[in-house]
Amino acid sequence: MQAETKINLVGLCPEEIQDIVVRMGEAAFRARQICSGIYRRRTLSWDHFTDLAKSLRERLREKYEIQYPLIQRVFQSEDGTRRYLFGVGPQQWIESVSIPEDSRDTFCISTQVGCAVGCLYCLTGKLPMRRDLTTGEIVGQILALLADRETPSKRLNIVIMGMGEPLFNYDNVMKSIRLMTDARALALSPRRITLSTSGVVPGILKLASEPVIPNLAISLNATTNKQRDQLISINRKWKIAELLEACRSFPLEKRQRITFEYVLIAGINDAPEDARRLVKLLAGLKQKVNLIPLNEDARIPFKSPAEDRILAFQKILVDHYITANIRRARGTDISAACGLLAGQEIKNPGQ
Ligand code: SAH
Ligand code: SF4
Repeated sequence: MQAETKINLVGLCPEEIQDIVVRMGEAAFRARQICSGIYRRRTLSWDHFTDLAKSLRERLREKYEIQYPLIQRVFQSEDGTRRYLFGVGPQQWIESVSIPEDSRDTFCISTQVGCAVGCLYCLTGKLPMRRDLTTGEIVGQILALLADRETPSKRLNIVIMGMGEPLFNYDNVMKSIRLMTDARALALSPRRITLSTSGVVPGILKLASEPVIPNLAISLNATTNKQRDQLISINRKWKIAELLEACRSFPLEKRQRITFEYVLIAGINDAPEDARRLVKLLAGLKQKVNLIPLNEDARIPFKSPAEDRILAFQKILVDHYITANIRRARGTDISAACGLLAGQEIKNPGQ
């Protein structure tokens, strides 16, 4: 007889776990203990839920399990960055990156297997879009990385900037964000979570009305629709003006700003005129700019600008009182940098 597949509790919210517990005839507060075990203590075995009666643990074990996505491989960079490859189904891989800094760790997590947007500068965009990740798989990446982290006391930042377009997997991503911020689950401040989008305007508008709102980052990457249409297919649907309009109405707390990411690509979007157009586009917005020199790969048909071009671009923004940081790549030696997450089990650089 085939063993019945158990229900994975990772990704369920406290209310859903409470429903399960109550249906089993147990007191509702047991759900709190279970949530705390899953999300706060990160217990993986029912044996370790010592605050629950043994008989209840046995009944839970029959039907339910606590499972993170399966780590297939971990790649360790010289600079401390780690890239995690997870297998989430036959021929389905996703990646997450852990980036340690002095005072905090940043986890970059994925939301889809592949990506339908297909930006020309991004390796994920070259993969077929296979499917949306479930809430359990999104939050499970964080739990798996937390379980592997060396200094547990450091502050944690989550950037939803891995594989996939998060606003095309809206419901699962939002539920994941609620779990990240729920005091009974991961208890992170929404200000420690950043969602990056290629510009899905209806998703941005919807996000603006949520009770829990993360920081917003926009992958702008171009200053004219002609350029952007070429680089990011969805710009043909949602133009720059409409995108910036949605940003203007996005609710921000005091001192909070929208991050505009700008991947600098030699000869495409790195001219002084681009910088000046960018200044004009951003006028009146509460924003900051992250300049990301393109991470190169043989499969990406572009090059990163020369250093003097990058600095000249930054200077124009800074001269117009725009905060513009140049984001130097981390984890380049293990293909963990922005845009290089491709999810294959074995990577063949140069092919
Ligand atoms: N899909 C979302 C989030 C993931 S991409 C989005 O596009 O915003 C995260 C960031 O990596 C984006 O800002 C994207 O512009 C950038 N990126 C993609 N390919 C890159 C590359 N080759 N070099 C540098 N940055 C890249
Ligand atoms: Fe998808 Fe973002 Fe890569 Fe574009 S940059 S293909 S939206 S993951």
